[in-house]
Amino acid sequence: MIRSFARSAAAFAIFLLVAIFVQAQVPSFSVGTATAAPGQKARGYLEVPAGVDAATQIPVIVINGEKHGPVLALVSGAHGTEYTSIIAIEKLIDQLDPSQITGTVILVPLINIQSFEQKVPHVNPVDNKSMNRFYPGKADGTQTERASFLITKQIVDRCDYLIDYHGGDLDESLRPYAYWAPTGKETQDRISKEMVLAFGLDHIIIWRDRPTDLAATRYLDNTATARGKPSIVVEAGYAGIVEADDVALLVDGTLSTMRALKMLSGNPRPIENPVWLDKVVDVLSDGPGIWYPLVKRGTYVQEGMKIGVVTDYFGKLVLEARAPVSGVLLHINAVPSLKKGDNIADIGVVAAHAP
Ligand SMILES: [Zn+2]
Repeated sequence: MIRSFARSAAAFAIFLLVAIFVQAQVPSFSVGTATAAPGQKARGYLEVPAGVDAATQIPVIVINGEKHGPVLALVSGAHGTEYTSIIAIEKLIDQLDPSQITGTVILVPLINIQSFEQKVPHVNPVDNKSMNRFYPGKADGTQTERASFLITKQIVDRCDYLIDYHGGDLDESLRPYAYWAPTGKETQDRISKEMVLAFGLDHIIIWRDRPTDLAATRYLDNTATARGKPSIVVEAGYAGIVEADDVALLVDGTLSTMRALKMLSGNPRPIENPVWLDKVVDVLSDGPGIWYPLVKRGTYVQEGMKIGVVTDYFGKLVLEARAPVSGVLLHINAVPSLKKGDNIADIGVVAAHAP
């Protein structure tokens, strides 16, 4: 009896030691110069070295949960004047508590610092390239390509799931929406669909026919998707304005998605019957001029409806812009300036069936 008790006690002690050892073995996680031990939040930089143009530093935050689990990347500010998405990630840096998280969260609030500081929309003013078109990047390219290369290696290759945050740029009046890009791989598509529904934005674009060549994936989310990682894109905010409601959509959507991924406790709040869009049609300006919109972001338009007019600098009408299809105005040019080829509006066409 006593011997049996002693054996049980010894077994229990060994079990405890093993448990403590396993706990201690949850590893640190490093991205760039940020290294977080389990239960810690660390701040650092992705150091983009100088090349054909200047070096840059991209801020990165690693939040390492006390419990081991998946790695989720939250990336914003490829377009540095899509402010709402950047502010949302700043809020999450503060709100996410490593003691509550299972797994690891990598946050990049602002990829395109030069765009943010100089207030230049759409591109990195250092090389005039969009920072969401040159993935997977090049070690010997221009600054945008070198940054994209580092993000692919340090973040995409090491995460399990990725969310890329965007919004209306300085000249875009945008209503919130998300992108879901099915791949034909059942498990991956099921998870990415669960993510986009959990995020909760009520309009979702089904983005098919994306580049599958791993050496030319172009977009950040597609770089992760093509590497087998469920990923989504979310957009909110417009025209330089940061509204609390738009920030809340992105913050709450992220927390709900983390619940769906079992990285936070509690139940996600998925959108039940979103508007699925299966096509996005651009309306382009065929010349320079002054833009006068007639409809607002989010309006449902009928094919042929006049959505605005363009005049020359003498006030003479040069274009009546009409909706080429029926659908929802996802965004419309927010400022009077137009040059030839500029995007006047994007119209999302409602899908006949939910996917
Ligand atoms: Zn963007």
